[in-house]
Amino acid sequence: RNDNGGWGAVGADSVRDKESLRDADSCWIPDQVRDDNLRDREIIGVSTDTRTLGAGECFFAIRGENFDGHAYVSAAVEKGAACVVVEDGACVSGCGVPCVVVEDTVRALGDLARWYREQLGAKVVAITGSAGKTTVRHILGHVLSQHFRCHQAKKSFNNHIGLPLTLLGADEDDEIIVCELGTNSPGEIEYLSRVAGPDAAVVNNVGEAHLEGFGTVENIAQEKTSIRAGLRDGGKLLINVDCAVLVSYCDEAGLSYVGFGTGASADVRASEVKTTGLAGELVVDDMVISVPLAGEANLYNALAAYAVARQFGVTADEFAKAMPGLESPEMRLDLQYAGRVTIINDCYNANPASMRNAVETLGHLVRGHDGRAVFICGHMAELGADADRLHAELGGTIGAAELDLLVGVGAHADVTVEAAARASENGLKTRIFPDVEVLCNNLQQIVRPDDIILVKGSRAAGLERAIDELVGLF
Ligand code: ATP
Ligand code: MG
Repeated sequence: RNDNGGWGAVGADSVRDKESLRDADSCWIPDQVRDDNLRDREIIGVSTDTRTLGAGECFFAIRGENFDGHAYVSAAVEKGAACVVVEDGACVSGCGVPCVVVEDTVRALGDLARWYREQLGAKVVAITGSAGKTTVRHILGHVLSQHFRCHQAKKSFNNHIGLPLTLLGADEDDEIIVCELGTNSPGEIEYLSRVAGPDAAVVNNVGEAHLEGFGTVENIAQEKTSIRAGLRDGGKLLINVDCAVLVSYCDEAGLSYVGFGTGASADVRASEVKTTGLAGELVVDDMVISVPLAGEANLYNALAAYAVARQFGVTADEFAKAMPGLESPEMRLDLQYAGRVTIINDCYNANPASMRNAVETLGHLVRGHDGRAVFICGHMAELGADADRLHAELGGTIGAAELDLLVGVGAHADVTVEAAARASENGLKTRIFPDVEVLCNNLQQIVRPDDIILVKGSRAAGLERAIDELVGLF
């Protein structure tokens, strides 16, 4: 439906259109553009965001929580969009470029990505897990790029929009695509896996992240392992066999998998896993691999990446040689220095497992250091009815870690701080601030030169503002 020469895009009221959308195995794209000029138009990419849209790309108008992409169709056209995909035909009348009207633009984006993936010769790696998806993707992408033409997800692109955009961003001559698959409600991983069609599907771990949407960790294990749903012929499921709930789920379901971990049953087994806080090492296939990332969990993330790289023929020696050039992904145990203060920027996100790992990392770093260990601690989001219990457990971990000062910020700070003070045997000092704003106004009184300061909380806590403030102080 287009005023610019009758492009013949299908209207929202077309019966065929709706039926093809409902049919999970069909792809609407080749059908709907048949015999019209859209076929002759070169579309060089796909975008859902007019701020980053490039000329010649197809704009998908998506209704989000805060914005509706349909309000940006004319901005997309002004920036040179080659065509637009919308749910509401009215908003594109007279817009001047071909448009495709569909029932659900997010679903259409997924269908297009799945169709495109099927055309590509590349192998796809799909990574899920409660923690470490982005880090494993980042390590794996770094290593594979030294041997293959490798395309990887940006940032944390892991949902119904980010995953299709990752696939659609691959070039025809890419050999491996490394994707992340995330979930906060049942069924999402299976859907995303069918879009990605992976050759290797990885479950990095199962923890208490997103309990709100799942109820129990067993349900989370079931959701994560549904990443096998879209595996291609000969594709492999790889799981962390140090994670008991994951192993029992897979064994009870009779799934075959490649296990990575430290136990005797692991197919890809690591031993002598040691961290100094700042970096660490592990031994795999008789080779010592030094990993230049902070915190013990990152050594296990490196093991997961190695297990996948090995599937593609990368040797332990080659993996070890790739490690020196590896940098931390941004805002994940990312070390920053401001004057004499060391800041551990881990404020990308937080859940119980990543909080434990970060607190332990701070404990390691401060040993043998003259300054204080300070933890600026935001809340962990999306824990549902378990939130108080899990924040109290976090407090227990903090209390046992021999830190000097705990600064609780925002939601659940009282629970965390109270439990930490109770568990501490070394006179842990504590402060509580209602929000980041008040914290920032008081930072100057709290921190001292030579402090090592861990800053961590869920995305919603927005603690990166405190990092900016800290950097400005020194
Ligand atoms: P998200 O779902 O929020 O995108 P993610 O699964 O991609 O998260 P990362 O971004 O790699 O995970 O890491 C998020 C946080 O979890 C960081 O604080 C990081 O230090 C910590 N973390 C990374 N890997 C692990 C792990 N294997 N176990 C526990 N914590 C981890
Ligand atoms: Mg991520």
